[in-house]
Amino acid sequence: MESCKNIVLLGATGSIGQNALRVIRKHSDRLRLIAVSAHSNHHQLADICQEFSVATAALSKPIDGPTDFPEITTVKQGEEALLELASMEEADIVLIATVGASALRSAMAAIEAGKDIALANKELLVLGGSLVIEAAQRKGVRLLPVDSEHNAIFQCLQGHQTEEVEKIILTASGGQFRDLPVAELVNVLPEDAIQHPNWKMGPKITVDSSTMANKGLEIIEAHWLFGIEADRIEVVIHPQSIAHSFVQFRDGNILGQFSPPSMTFPIQQCLLYPERMQAVEPTIDFKQAFKLEFSAPDFARYPCLNMAYQSLRAGETAPIVFNAANEIAVQRFLQYEIPYLAIPHSIDQALDHFGSTPAGSSIEDRLQIDAETRTFCCSLST
Ligand code: NDP
Ligand code: MG
Repeated sequence: MESCKNIVLLGATGSIGQNALRVIRKHSDRLRLIAVSAHSNHHQLADICQEFSVATAALSKPIDGPTDFPEITTVKQGEEALLELASMEEADIVLIATVGASALRSAMAAIEAGKDIALANKELLVLGGSLVIEAAQRKGVRLLPVDSEHNAIFQCLQGHQTEEVEKIILTASGGQFRDLPVAELVNVLPEDAIQHPNWKMGPKITVDSSTMANKGLEIIEAHWLFGIEADRIEVVIHPQSIAHSFVQFRDGNILGQFSPPSMTFPIQQCLLYPERMQAVEPTIDFKQAFKLEFSAPDFARYPCLNMAYQSLRAGETAPIVFNAANEIAVQRFLQYEIPYLAIPHSIDQALDHFGSTPAGSSIEDRLQIDAETRTFCCSLST
């Protein structure tokens, strides 16, 4: 009989966290939730602890006042508590589904403690890059990619060597303005940009999907996860979001991975890895007719995509600047402070201003560049 895996879930109250709970609920004989975190949403976290009898919970933003956690749950508070959870002795795998820079520190804590990681937060690789990969190799821990494209590539690479790979091809939905005339992008409002045609996700990543800054971050993420340089990472528009990415080998054969557009598929693949069990949701039904379409992205429509490639080629601090500039610009756009097209413009200005300097060998050095870029972008006029 197979044993149960002990799961630490950081970011349990978020969109990825909720999908992870669906997987854990379905496979409760194989997956046991031993610790969960949220930032401030203590009511929802308490409900999760109640339902899954979770022994340890953490709130990264300390709260005053009463909470309704069950008696069996020990509640820790503050950002440092996330590091404690990430390195718990009983943990087998840590799913990092928090947003924000603290994810990088959680990942490093989990790696140092020798825990396998299921990685949802893509920004942490953009910031941590070589530091995360080298530490994971040194400690012999697995980095299992949750992001659907990287999970697809990970699955296609099983049993193959990176040397056999010609290129990887990331699919992208193209977002909700894929067919809007480019001249009309100037009029896009936050309420339009937070609707995704296929995926149900939070506002920031939905806006990133429309500008393809999300695909840009994923190019950088793929570079670190699979050790492949920018010139061998291609992007293709695939409006249906059913083919989640491809690997082309040097003999011309291409492998792809297909599933409906729901994050439960890659999350389950990571949490149960290497086992395959029944899915949480209905799978693709070939008795129903459907189309799969592919086309090249128009770089004029998606300038963020080009900037991501440029920043990855420049290396060092440039990807950190790209990520931080984008995050501030999206935040300002969602608050009606800047127009939609100021998002790529802000990233461009930040990349020009900071150039590419050595990234430094510590997390603190990288967080410093991240902070400086944020300050710079907050003060940009439009
Ligand atoms: P959500 O915003 O839905 O959830 C974020 C989670 O992190 C919540 O549990 C939240 O707690 C917690 N949190 C918020 N702020 C902080 C903070 N400062 N420090 C620590 N924890 C915090 O995000 P998603 O689930 O959509 O995304 C999580 C990560 O996964 C992101 O990096 C995203 O890019 C990546 N990702 C998401 C995909 C998706 O389909 N949603 C797909 C691929 C990658 P609280 O509820 O208390 O605020
Ligand atoms: Mg993705």
